This record gives sequence, structure tokens and C-alpha cells, in this order.
Amino acid sequence: MRRAVVLGGSIAGLGAARVLSEHADEVVIVEPDELSASSPVRPGVPQGSQVHAVLSMGSDLLERWLPGLTDELAAEGAIPGYGDRIEHYVDGVRKVGVPSEYTIGLTRPLLETHVRRRVLAAEGVRLVRGRALALVAEGERVTGVEYVPHDTQEPRTLAADLVVDATGRGTRLDRWLSAAGWTPPALERMNLQLGYATALFKSGEELPGLNVVQAISTPQGPYRDSFAAVRVEGRRWMVVLSAYGEDRPTRDREEFLRRCGAAPVPPIAEIAQQCTLEGEVATYTMADSRRRHFTALSRFPAGLVAVGDAVASFNPVYGQGMTSALLHASCLSAHLRSGAPLNEPAWDYFRRVQVIVDAAWGISTLLDLALPHVDGPYPRGYRFARWYSEQLGRATFTDPGLHRLFLEVAHMRKHPRVLSRPATMLAVARTLLG
Ligand SMILES: Cc1cc2nc3c(=O)[nH]c(=O)nc-3n(C[C@H](O)[C@H](O)[C@H](O)COP(=O)(O)OP(=O)(O)OC[C@H]3O[C@@H](n4cnc5c(N)ncnc54)[C@H](O)[C@@H]3O)c2cc1C
Repeated sequence: MRRAVVLGGSIAGLGAARVLSEHADEVVIVEPDELSASSPVRPGVPQGSQVHAVLSMGSDLLERWLPGLTDELAAEGAIPGYGDRIEHYVDGVRKVGVPSEYTIGLTRPLLETHVRRRVLAAEGVRLVRGRALALVAEGERVTGVEYVPHDTQEPRTLAADLVVDATGRGTRLDRWLSAAGWTPPALERMNLQLGYATALFKSGEELPGLNVVQAISTPQGPYRDSFAAVRVEGRRWMVVLSAYGEDRPTRDREEFLRRCGAAPVPPIAEIAQQCTLEGEVATYTMADSRRRHFTALSRFPAGLVAVGDAVASFNPVYGQGMTSALLHASCLSAHLRSGAPLNEPAWDYFRRVQVIVDAAWGISTLLDLALPHVDGPYPRGYRFARWYSEQLGRATFTDPGLHRLFLEVAHMRKHPRVLSRPATMLAVARTLLG
């Protein structure tokens, strides 16, 4: 391949660019934002102010593609967390610890800055500051993009053997496809009405030996607020409070401190009561979960794929977004390694991605579908799946083996189907019947 063009220089775009650097003479990333700015949040990634957990599968992929990245991040103050340093609570009750669990605590801008620096250091990869406007097509294939450079109003064309849409949740791909004469993939949405509020606290001597707390409140439980706290660079705790519908948090500092201080999870309450809140409370609202059904299409142009949130974006409480995006890049790698011809639609790529999307979607929507304001669409077998997930959830409070298996799925290392294998179901029954 002579040139690949990646639209969007965030996590999905950077993952795709890293993979493409092994297959293309030149990889051009088109990104509108000024990326050298030290501001913690940039306009193209407004969610960057919120807690961003890196699941262990995502860490592994980054480390495989960018060897030494974890050490590099730790040298900048990011905090690796293992085993007992990570605590999980559901409805205020703590689950048994899992020694093999690991993650790294850091802010999203720190992660992105280092990933970007390393990807741009790969041979043939460069970044152009500009905004993609349209696809350029010839017959049944996409042959490039039209974009407007940031310093001029004059649109330009960039020819490409492969165009990757990594422009995130707000992608204009549907419009671009329609304008070029193709039917866009169906967009499925699930009402969510999720509100996030994140703040940073100066950390001191509190909570020694603890790096990460995740506390989820289920729709049928007694509490409405969910929380997470992560030790991040700069000797700080990053704390997020999330809730749905009418309960969505605001930017009010007093409200944030009051709700965190009243958390049914001792470490969260301790941080809110003992540490000093620094700066503002940043909020973010997510109206829906959404995914695009590429594999249901019968016609699609060659030379075009989509990755990351442009394909699917779901409830961030489960922290799957960046890891999903990296797994999409991994699918792209497998697709290109298989020798798939570039002059045909990338069906094989989209089929691989569908497996990742369905798995992540299944996990994040199972609980969401039980929220009072969510009215489907309910998948086939939902009632049983919901009942079984409640039993499994109960068993993971006390059974370390089942909790480990559950976390391997939650960290996207294993497919969710392992949780409904007969051996797992038997283990759940044994634990509950005791
Ligand atoms: C509140 C919240 C909390 C989250 N927490 C987590 C978490 O804990 N863990 C996790 O893994 N994920 C989390 N996520 C999800 C995560 O933020 C996304 O899944 C991830 O950023 C997707 O990456 P992306 O590259 O696909 O899109 P984005 O990160 O949204 O980036 C899109 C990029 O495209 C660029 N762009 C836009 N339009 C154009 C254009 N026309 N031309 C060129 N470039 C363009 C933008 O400037 C931007 O750089 C969270 C999301 C939210 C909203």
C-alpha cells in the first residue's frame, strides 16, 4: 500500500496508524486539533477531562505495539495498580480481590500524549492539521479524502489506498457515504441519559495500598450514584460520580463533595472528606449508546474502514471505549495480514470488528436495559441473561475464581460467552448454594 489516510488523531486513529505503519509506505493522520497544547482537554475529545480507565487488554495491545510505553508512563507519574490495590464494589458491597488484575492510573491526556508521540515516531507516519470534509470516490472504491487544512479555507484532496474513519462518536461518515452514492450502515441507539462528573483531589497519606476503587450501583439496588477513584500522575486522586436521568450530577463543587462524601463505599467517602478538591468539577452527558451495523450492508466501497467510536460507543462506566478502539485496530492488522485485496470492500474486517462490538455492547447494555428510563431494544433471551447475570454477579462477591473470570471478560481479554459455559454456570450454582 502506498498511502493510508487516517481521519482523527485520537486513540482509535493512533492505534490504526500504528498498525498501518507496517503495511503502508506512508500513513497520514488528519486531525483538526492543535495537539502540542498542554491543555488537559482538547475540543475534539471533550471527554478527556473524565476518568479514563485503561483495561488490561488495552494496556497489553499498547505495550505490544509501543514497547516500553508502560514504563514511560510510570516515569511520568502514572500509577500501575495490581491485585489488592484495586477494589470493586457493587451496591455498596465489596467483592473478593483478584491478585492477577492490573491496570494503570493516569489521566487521558497523559496517555494520549505519549501514545501519539510514539506512533508519530514510527516510520512513514505523519500528522496533517485539518478537518476531513468528504470522501473522494471512483467507481466502487474510495480513493481519498477532501479536507480543509487548519490555516486555510481552501479544501484539498489527499489520495489514499485506504481511508480510515477514526473521527469518533460524532462521525459524519453516514453523510459522506450518502453524498458519494452509498447507503450508510444502520445506526442503532439505546437511550442512556448518563451524567458524569469528575474532579481531582490532592492525595496525601490516606488509603495506603489502594490505587483504584470502582463502585457500581445497579438499577435494582438501593443507591443511585456510581463512583470510581483512581490514583493518577501528580499525586492526585481522580474521582468520578455518575448517575442517570434526573440524578445526573452538575458542576457544583458542594454537590459533588456531598454526594461523594455520602458514598456507601468507604474509600470514596474518605477521599471526599479528607482530601482537597483541586480545580473545577467537569461534567459530561451521554445521551445514548450507539453502534453501526456495517455487516448488514450489501454494498460498501472498497478502500474504506471505520474504527473506534465511529463504529460503536457505549456506556463508559465499564471503561471499554479505548480498549475497543485498540481491538478494532488489531482487527485491521489481522485483516491486512491476511492479504485481503484493497480493491474489495473490507467485509472480513467488519466481521471481525462485529465480534468486538457485540461483546462490548452486550456487557454494557445488559445492566442499562434494566434502568427505568431505558425502553429497549431488548435482545432475544434478555430476561434469562439478566437473571443469570444477577446470579453470576452475586457469586463474584465471594468466589475469587468466578470474579477473576468475570474481570477477564470485563477487561476484554475473554469473550463474554465464557461466562455462560456449563462449567461456569455450575460453579455459580455451587457458590450460591454453598
Ligand atoms: C464520560 C466518558 C468517560 C469515558 N471513560 C472511559 C474509560 O474509562 N475508559 C475507556 O477506555 N474509554 C472511556 N470512554 C470512551 C473513550 O473516550 C472513547 O471510546 C475513545 O476516546 C474513542 O476514541 P476515538 O479515537 O474513536 O474517538 P475520540 O477519542 O472521540 O476522537 C475523535 C477524533 O477525531 C477528530 N475529528 C473529529 N472530526 C474530524 C474530522 N472531520 N476530520 C478529522 N478528524 C476529526 C477529533 O478531533 C478527535 O481527535 C469514555 C467516554 C466518555 C464520554
